[in-house]
Amino acid sequence: MILADPHCHLQDRRFDDDREAVIARALDALEWLAVVGDDIPNSETACQLVRPGVFAVVGVHPYHADGFTESDVDTLRALCARPGVIAIGETGLDYHNEFSARPAQRAAFVRQLALAAEMALPVVIHNREADGDTLAILADHAAALKSVIMHCFGSDAKAAERFAELGCYVSFAGNVTFPKAIPLREAASVVPAERLLAETDSPYLAPQPVRGKRCEPAFVRHTVEALAQLRGMSVETMAALLAENARRAFCLGDRERFQPLILGARP
Ligand SMILES: [Zn+2]
Ligand SMILES: [Zn+2]
Repeated sequence: MILADPHCHLQDRRFDDDREAVIARALDALEWLAVVGDDIPNSETACQLVRPGVFAVVGVHPYHADGFTESDVDTLRALCARPGVIAIGETGLDYHNEFSARPAQRAAFVRQLALAAEMALPVVIHNREADGDTLAILADHAAALKSVIMHCFGSDAKAAERFAELGCYVSFAGNVTFPKAIPLREAASVVPAERLLAETDSPYLAPQPVRGKRCEPAFVRHTVEALAQLRGMSVETMAALLAENARRAFCLGDRERFQPLILGARP
């Protein structure tokens, strides 16, 4: 079975004691994974974790949008030249946890979308309780963007349809497997097959069979199994679909320099 985890935070301190063991288990179970940055320092750490099968995504989370500067943009641009950097993110809007002011969140989001367009890289978006503004901002920028991934989708089916209509990929994390997550499963059932993704967002949101544990990339198979059941497909067929979607979403086939990193992970 071919699996990928296009969104995890292995630079998190919860992996400090056994990070290499977690990566080894991930590369046993998965074709590839992407370590995603939240801020400048941990985007740099994500780049340091790159190796065959491990990619990096660099960006500043809406939590840290206050204080986001043009010099941060310059740093991110420089990080994009590092080997294995496949996307900008995570950026976006979080109106649930308003750790940064909304205008600052919108400004940092728009600036990072412009950087993704400039670098011709996909962009990974965090959207929590901000569907209206996220859709409006994306509608303005979608034409210039190579690929847009709505990570850890948490909105309803109507929003999922609207993001998919804009051409976004819609990525589900372990919370789609929780028994009470009925609206989320409705959303996962309406996304067009070619726009559907699964991720872990490790160390957060471990899926139902391992719920409450620290999540790790190898756990993505539980989310793939739940999506297969939800959409009436075999697990193997769903895994193959999601793996193909993930490669397309992150343009891995387009870029000769990324292919060796994927192929290197295969036994
Ligand atoms: Zn996020
Ligand atoms: Zn994340």
